[in-house]
Amino acid sequence: MSRIVYVNGDWVPEEEAKISVFDRGFLMADAVYEVTSVLDGKLIDFAGHAARLKRSMAELDMESPVTEEELLAIHRELLARNGIGDGLVYLQVTRGNPGDRDFAFPDPAAVKGGIVLFTQSKPGLADNPVAKVGMKVISIPDIRWGRRDIKTVQLLYPSMGKMMAKKAGADDAWFTEEGGVVTEGTSNNAYIVKGGKIITRQLSEDILHGITRAAVLRFAREAQMVVEERPFTIAEAQAADEAFVTSASAFVMPVVEIDSAVLGSGKPGPVAARLREIYLEESRKAAV
Ligand code: PMP
Repeated sequence: MSRIVYVNGDWVPEEEAKISVFDRGFLMADAVYEVTSVLDGKLIDFAGHAARLKRSMAELDMESPVTEEELLAIHRELLARNGIGDGLVYLQVTRGNPGDRDFAFPDPAAVKGGIVLFTQSKPGLADNPVAKVGMKVISIPDIRWGRRDIKTVQLLYPSMGKMMAKKAGADDAWFTEEGGVVTEGTSNNAYIVKGGKIITRQLSEDILHGITRAAVLRFAREAQMVVEERPFTIAEAQAADEAFVTSASAFVMPVVEIDSAVLGSGKPGPVAARLREIYLEESRKAAV
């Protein structure tokens, strides 16, 4: 069945949706995006995603083509039009179509940003069987640009990273800097657990400020778990009791193998399992 997508104010079947060849999102990856998960027809942490979108746009001197209220209304109508129970809403805001290809940013008063939203239906999104067995990750050098805190659509290297993982028989990759210091996963934030302590890299321009990360750390602290925000290496991770990743689409997902080293028992650990449970429970309660 064809989806209904939202393109610059219009609701259209996906086959009829059109974006200009001159759109800067297409020509220059001059666009930002968000992914919000949907459980039981409701949006998980919409306010967090809307706030990060606003921040990404501000960092790039982009003006929002819609207000936050309009954005929520568009999300809801999109879910209704596509009958989404469990799934994902993808949103992209581009700097728009200035008419010609040119490196300089167009005047935002003259060129309005473009906005596109579409859904991906994922029945049983919260019951992903991988959560029961855990993921295998490999490490690869982080050669992305230096503003990873801005959620741009420059996803070529993360895509390459996923392909490298696939080729190596793994599920995903963690990016590392000199000395094997982990930044984050290709599309998620990375954590280890040692002696009951949850360790994850501190926020900076080096990583995306995960919306799931913020919620999970808040829930962990509320549950009296100890959280340490600092860098860790692959070697430290391989010697950890547990590891896991967080993202809007995977929630909390255990990692059981890092560069072929099996963690602990090789099964998902209790901290990741507990955090996944709390996160899903609390997020469902607060969903809009
Ligand atoms: N880091 C990167 C590089 C990502 O692409 C994502 C997912 N968009 C995340 C972290 C997790 O962010 P969130 O929890 O907001 O999905």
